Amino acid sequence: MIDVRSDTVTRPTPEMRKAGYHVEVGDDVYGEDMSVIKLEETAARMLGKEAALFVTSGTQGNQIAALTHCDRGDEVLLEADAHLFLYEGAAMSALAGVQPRTIQGVRGVMNPEHVRAAVRPDNIHFPETGMICIENSHNKAGGAIVPLENMQAIHDIAREHGIPVHLDGARLFNASVASGVSVKDYAAQTDTVQFCLSKGLGAPVGSIISGSAEFIRKARKWRKRLGGGLRQVGVIAEPGYVALTTMVDRLAEDHEHAALMAEAFEQIPGLSLEGSIDTNIVIVNVAGLSMSSDHFVEELTKAGVLAGTFGPDTVRFVTHYDVNRNDIKQVIDRVNELARVRS
Ligand SMILES: *Cc1c(COP(=O)(O)O)cnc(C)c1O
Repeated sequence: MIDVRSDTVTRPTPEMRKAGYHVEVGDDVYGEDMSVIKLEETAARMLGKEAALFVTSGTQGNQIAALTHCDRGDEVLLEADAHLFLYEGAAMSALAGVQPRTIQGVRGVMNPEHVRAAVRPDNIHFPETGMICIENSHNKAGGAIVPLENMQAIHDIAREHGIPVHLDGARLFNASVASGVSVKDYAAQTDTVQFCLSKGLGAPVGSIISGSAEFIRKARKWRKRLGGGLRQVGVIAEPGYVALTTMVDRLAEDHEHAALMAEAFEQIPGLSLEGSIDTNIVIVNVAGLSMSSDHFVEELTKAGVLAGTFGPDTVRFVTHYDVNRNDIKQVIDRVNELARVRS
């Protein structure tokens, strides 16, 4: 089976497994696990922030941001197809007691003037705008990169109103490697950042949330309240450190593979690409084959390729370090074959 459902399916490398085995551990709730401290300090330095916190998942990181930045009854501004809105079980409403207000973007990019217009004025009837979220790269938009200037424009508006900006950067390193903009430059346009160690970077578990020292002090308490205070966390933090310090540059290879796949898919009658390919995600529309995405995925699975349905007519392919160029060629061949049988 060639698994291109997601970059979360990557398994830890031998180096990561060894690092987790050999690490000296301590109790992180007492602040005594040196590996997680090293990971957090390294992440904060890379992002140009004061502090960072290791959290169990991207979802937990995003929710801790909502819990720490917002008060109950606040409103959160975010793009209409944001992961925080679509795929986190309405956690921000269930846990932080805030209401999301979505802004329809173009390929995941919000118009700053729409953001400005959505900020609530002072009025007894209105909620306070508690946070603005940006997602980069944007998952639902097919790994689209949000331009730095757009983030800057939104950050300027947020600062005028004293509203914190949170970056859901689950795949921030993909955006950075593909665009050439440093993660530090992206992070400078936000108050807080969440990124996943367990996606393209290949770690088995975990995400980082980063911001000011004061923010992280409060975030640490929210993490504890959520049951995310871990003990001998070095066994997973050390693999995370290996991921963060050795797996960033190779993301370029995943992007090449995605481009290769997209180029081939474009030539296949009945398939059309949903937008351009910025990073490691390829979304194709299969309606031209008179198949639903579920049916397409089912048939492709029989041929030995796991992809994911992304909508009634759309299928998502995600490249990662567990699929090599030969696997990509196989994927192209199998898709070609399936399309040929159907047309
Ligand atoms: C995967 C993802 C998350 C959530 O990460 P988990 O570790 O799966 O909880 C958040 N935001 C975006 C954009 C993602 O792609």
